[in-house]
Amino acid sequence: MGIEDVGIEYVSTRGIAPALGFADTLLTGLATDGGLYCPADVPELNLDGLGPESSYADIALAVMWPYVEGSIDKQTFTTMVEETYSVFHHPDIVPLVDLGDGLHLLDLSQGPTLAFKDVALQLVGRLLDYELTSRGERVTVLAATSGDTGSAAIEALKNRKNVNLVVLHPHGRVSDVQRRQMTTVVAPNIRNVALDGNFDDCQDLVKAAFADPSLRSEFGLAAVNSINWARVMAQIVYYVSSSLRLTGGTSPVSFAVPTGNFGNVLAGWYAKRMGNPTGQLIVASNRNDILTRFFATGSLTAQNVAPSLSPSMDIQVSSNFERLLWEASGRQGEAVSKVLSDFRTEGEVALEADWVGFIRAEFASGRADDEETLAEMERTHSEYGLLIDPHTAVGLKVAREQRDDSGNPMVVLSTASPAKFPDAVKQATGIHPELPPFLAELHSRIERVERSAADLESVVTQMRALNQS
Ligand SMILES: *Cc1c(COP(=O)(O)O)cnc(C)c1O
Repeated sequence: MGIEDVGIEYVSTRGIAPALGFADTLLTGLATDGGLYCPADVPELNLDGLGPESSYADIALAVMWPYVEGSIDKQTFTTMVEETYSVFHHPDIVPLVDLGDGLHLLDLSQGPTLAFKDVALQLVGRLLDYELTSRGERVTVLAATSGDTGSAAIEALKNRKNVNLVVLHPHGRVSDVQRRQMTTVVAPNIRNVALDGNFDDCQDLVKAAFADPSLRSEFGLAAVNSINWARVMAQIVYYVSSSLRLTGGTSPVSFAVPTGNFGNVLAGWYAKRMGNPTGQLIVASNRNDILTRFFATGSLTAQNVAPSLSPSMDIQVSSNFERLLWEASGRQGEAVSKVLSDFRTEGEVALEADWVGFIRAEFASGRADDEETLAEMERTHSEYGLLIDPHTAVGLKVAREQRDDSGNPMVVLSTASPAKFPDAVKQATGIHPELPPFLAELHSRIERVERSAADLESVVTQMRALNQS
């Protein structure tokens, strides 16, 4: 399917690759010029007939339809959205937990792998399957994971006939539960690769594969990392649903987001652009705080990635920041390319004052180190009797610290279940959080994983091995 008359066009942040419709954007992943696809027009929210009591699926349909229109018919998409959210383990799909004092947690961990990645990937898996089936095509999805994307992608794509999935995770840098959620899934189309490197190495190798036209054509490469626009799109929904539930969409709500690759908080920014009444958007980092330092100084300065208690945020190069830079630059693809290549070669780049001004006007930011993360987990347990995971704790700590005095409700995105990070929870509270019954046997299942060097040739060998099996 090309660009249909009715659909939104998607354009690359580097300004060279051709504009595409939704379906081609979904399948292309990274643009051929190395950029990320973004909607050329951001649609206005149309929530006619929806209110605080509306179902999540109905809100999801209203928010996402303008982005996919022209690539899929409405009835098929409606059914797909309903099926997607029927696999969640809570009737509200993304329940809000009231902590008092206008502070709320948005629990995004009710999906099959206990982290927020499920909310988007359960839909993306279905969208990919639908599109590939209608085209009669097959693809290899190459995914980099800092822990949670991998299992969410595996749950979304396992046993799908037209997709092979190779997942790269940094060896020894993901939690035991995270690793087992990936390596114990038995499906013929899945291969787990433990890479001798960190998450940024995994992400760089995915980008290197996409940059090689011969690999693209050999494997029909596709991506489900948040470089894929459909991920960001599906995440917009819960910002809108939170606003509807808390204020009927009539007054601003603020959000604090534990951030790694910047995909989740970027979705909040798109929700705001669509007209969702939004107060603060707070970017919360752990000790890997390149974004927090950027907000303070206006420069992006790389440092080595240091392991932390919140491993899904152990990232220095946040892919989706490129989408924001592109908007901040007034959509100058060439200027964005230059900034990013300078950052690659120099490890540091100072951004133009008007870009920095644009970004500072839209976001606040803060950081929490491991000690502060543990203290927040302990406090949440003693004050509210609630166990939270370390990523959520980073968000909550920074939310308390950065919250303005507007009186707007503050929603902290709770991105994972405490059961996914039992060691950190135990260390903070003395309590070992139990896995839910559907994962109770995780620790007795057999693991299957390949070890690989952090170079493209070794990764390609793994991809070929899966294709030939
Ligand atoms: C992926 C992840 C994050 C970071 O989200 P980004 O969209 O990459 O910023 C935070 N917390 C958890 C639990 C995650 O899995």
